[in-house]
Amino acid sequence: MGKTLEEVLTANAAYAENFGNKADLPMSPGRRFTILTCMDARLDPAKLAGLAEGDAHVIRNAGGRASDDAIRSLVISYKLLGTREWFVIHHTNCGMETFSDETIRRLLASSLETAVLGEQGWHDQGEGPGSIEGEFVDWLTIQDPRQSVYTDVQRIRSHPLVPETISIYGYLYDVRTGQLIEVPEATAIGKVLRG
Ligand code: ZN
Repeated sequence: MGKTLEEVLTANAAYAENFGNKADLPMSPGRRFTILTCMDARLDPAKLAGLAEGDAHVIRNAGGRASDDAIRSLVISYKLLGTREWFVIHHTNCGMETFSDETIRRLLASSLETAVLGEQGWHDQGEGPGSIEGEFVDWLTIQDPRQSVYTDVQRIRSHPLVPETISIYGYLYDVRTGQLIEVPEATAIGKVLRG
């Protein structure tokens, strides 16, 4: 068995050993809120926002972007599982700021091995062939994280499947300090339209 697989299964065995009464948790999040955030390994939503099992939904993707699939999850989160407040949390030093659609398409076209970030930006060291399929993906990269929080809150707020009664908050997480920093213009546009 691989080292990572072994470690994960060992950790899980210990977790299940002390599972307590969590079998009794209801499916709907007890604190009725949802976090949409980046998959970055430095962010632990449970720790940074004080979540326990059963408290909240956490939707993650590269950048924490309001992609069509993130909106699919948000709609299910309120429509079937009753959440009322949503946090969009992007962060400082996000990897999504380090490349453009053009960059990743070029990299994927030349090789499917892991690329390297150097002084001149991303470059491939691995072997080809690559694939042109990268051309058909919108990678939702980020130029300015405050702007991307605003854009995503705006998209969610104006989505026809999102009711006006949901509160949406826009925040940046600082990976150097662990602090959540409000993006006031995002929270302003995300406020409840009809109470
Ligand atoms: Zn990120």
